[in-house]
This record gives sequence, structure tokens and C-alpha cells, in this order.
Amino acid sequence: MKQKENILIIGAGLCGSLLALRLAQRGYNVSVYESRPDLRTTDISAGRSINLALSDRGFKALRLANVEDKAREICIPMKGRLMHDTKGNTFASNYSGRDNEYINSISRGDLNGMLLTEADTYDNLTIHFNTECETVDLDTNTVHFKNRNTNEAFNVTADVIFGTDGAGSELRKSYFLQRKFLFSFSQNFLTHGYKELEIPAAVDGSHQISKDYLHIWPRGEYMLIALPNLDGSFTVTLFLGHEEGDYNFKDLDTEDNIKAFFQAQFPDALALIPNIADEFANNPTGALGTIKCSPWHYKGNTLILGDAAHAVVPFYGQGMNASFEDVAVLDSIIDKHEGNWETIFKTYQSVRKADADAIGELAEENYYEMRDHVANPMFKTKRQLEMQ
Ligand code: FAD
Repeated sequence: MKQKENILIIGAGLCGSLLALRLAQRGYNVSVYESRPDLRTTDISAGRSINLALSDRGFKALRLANVEDKAREICIPMKGRLMHDTKGNTFASNYSGRDNEYINSISRGDLNGMLLTEADTYDNLTIHFNTECETVDLDTNTVHFKNRNTNEAFNVTADVIFGTDGAGSELRKSYFLQRKFLFSFSQNFLTHGYKELEIPAAVDGSHQISKDYLHIWPRGEYMLIALPNLDGSFTVTLFLGHEEGDYNFKDLDTEDNIKAFFQAQFPDALALIPNIADEFANNPTGALGTIKCSPWHYKGNTLILGDAAHAVVPFYGQGMNASFEDVAVLDSIIDKHEGNWETIFKTYQSVRKADADAIGELAEENYYEMRDHVANPMFKTKRQLEMQ
């Protein structure tokens, strides 16, 4: 049998760790380089969404790598949405009108950790942590790295390089710098950002509100959501304008302002978030943006997947799911063209780009829909509430 190529993957996040696992299962020699420490032994959750909604699209890709059951073990099914109004009333709404459909809340760290642990079982797969890609030489297939602990710089050459290094991808920046007008790129930030807060577990470890739902406090210009965690807590995400709107992150700068805002808009949630002022001060305000670019590959040498190729805003809950699906689509194309990476990459982009663009556009549309859909009594601005 022909010796399989040496594959180098930049980024061991959700997409990179699943891709590494699948390519190792196919018999390639896989080396993965991750800029951060091993998340199984270090707490590095700050700044990233702590839990995510995993849907059928994502499960299909996990099934391909034989890890669907392991993922299901750490999921909490959310059978519908539970909407909260400003008076603390709630009403349930399922996702599609079909009773048996649900999505799953899963911890980013647990899911990523499970994929890394699975990857560790393959002798032909090695993961290097604390190793940051600085740039990629596209023609010589050489990646320039820096060890984050020692600051030592070194180069690694591989037959094929994959960039799964997220929305700030260094491989994508290398396309931009080295391909110039032959590479198209757009980045569209929303005027809204997000901040994560926590509803802790009850004293007995149970969930303080129903764990069977994705909780939503829709208010037109801003919105709060909460997804359950296995330890009884909920991760709460506030979506709010950075600087504009009746309320915005810039103006929520004192404990009194924060509490007054929550008391007016989300009183039932405020009662469940005891450390709201500290969490507001300590947790970063994240940016939300859509990235589109083309081409995703350079010859048969390099390919970007996941957020590196198509970051989307989270209002459809499909960024990770689409990134997992990238791995499944690529895998099906390798089945047909194994041995010819240029054909694999060209075919992959031709079948995948329209879908990636579509999910990005749907997610943005959903943001505007939620933000501007003020006719619904659940979605009222501060001004409209004052006029009631
Ligand atoms: P990432 O998860 O960003 O992983 C990239 C990895 O590369 C990281 O480990 C990073 O440390 C590493 N890296 C970066 N730069 C370098 C470098 N130079 N050298 C080496 N390594 C590097 N999606 C859903 O499907 N459902 C949801 O409910 C959902 N909710 C979300 C909520 C929020 C608030 C946000 C912001 C996103 C949400 N998403 C959701 C989207 C999801 O988080 C992303 O689509 C997903 O993380 C993409 O995976 P990835 O592996 O491509 O990128």
C-alpha cells in the first residue's frame, strides 16, 4: 500500500480535532499544532462561548468518526424554546412544529476534550499544544511556529496543511498576503456584541429553571438566552449593542446601571444571577462577525475549514455544526479522489461554498429579524415599554 502523506493541522479546536481524528482513522500521519494549552488540564474557557447547541448536522459528522455516542453522553436535550417576558411569564414554543425535534446543549470544553482524548488513541496522530502558527509559506508547504512557553521559533514542512485555526486564521492571512488580488475576503461585524453570565446550580445541585429548554428573553434591541450545563448551572448570554441603542455595553458601566437594566428587562433572570456585577466586569464582551473568503485552498497544498473559512454570527446556532459538517463533506470527497489533493480541494470548495455562504446569510438575517421584529409583544424596546 502506498505510504500516506504527512498532514499538518493548525488549530485543535472543534473542527481541527474532528478533522485530525478522521484523517488519522483514514491512515494519514497527522500532526496538530494548537496555540493554547491543553484544555483538558487548563481552564481556558474565558472569552469563548461556554456551551453550544449541537444539532443533527453536527451529530452526522461525529457519527462518521465513531464519537456520536460519546457526544450524546455529555449533551442535555433541549426540546423547545421557553420565552420569558418582562413580567416573568413564560411560554414554550417548539422549534419546527414537530414534537420530536430537539437540539442539544453541550459544553465546548467537554466536547473538544472528548475529541482530543479520542485523537490521543491513534499512534499516527500527535498534538502539540502551546504552539502558535505565525505564518504559512504556501509554495513550500512550510509553517512557521512559535512555542508560547519558550518563545522558540521553528518551521515544519508537510505534504498537506489544513487551517482550522478559527475566525482569526493565520493560514487565511497568509492567503491574503501572498495571493493578493487572487484572494477575496470580507468581514462584517455586527453593532452588537455578547457577554456571558452564569445562573449557578441550586444548593442541591439541581437546575434552578427547567433544563429541558433553550431559554430566551427576547426584547427586540437586545436579548438574553440561557443554555443548561450538566453541573446544574446555566450559561447565560446577553446580546446587546456595543455603543448604540437605548441600552448598550458602554453605558452599563456601574453595578447600579447593570442591575437597573436587568430589573427592567430581565427581572426573573436577575434574581438567579447572584454575581452579576462581578461577572459583568470580569467576563469579556465578545465581538460578532461574519467572514467570507475565496478560494479556501492553494493548489493541493493547503485548505481552510470551519470558522477560518466561514465564521458566522451565532443567531442560528450553526457555526460549530457547519464546521463539523465541513469534515464530513471533505471526507466524502476524499473517498472519490484520494491521492489527488488539488482535485479534492477544488471539488470541496465547489460543493461547500454556497452552503457556507447561505448559513452565514441566514444567521445574519436572523439577527436582524430578532433585533427589529418589534411588532411581537415579546419584542419591545425601552421606548415602546415607556409608552405602554
Ligand atoms: P475555533 O473553535 O475557534 O477553534 C480554533 C482553534 O485554533 C482554537 O483552539 C484556537 O486556539 C486555535 N488557534 C487559533 N489561532 C491559532 C494559531 N495561530 N496557531 C495555532 N492554533 C491556533 N455554533 C453552533 O453550532 N452552535 C451554537 O450554539 C453556537 N453558539 C455560539 C455562541 C457564541 C457566542 C459564539 C461566538 C459562537 C457560537 N457558535 C455556535 C459558533 C462556534 O463557536 C464556531 O463556529 C466553532 O467554534 C468553530 O470551530 P473551529 O474549530 O472552526 O474554530
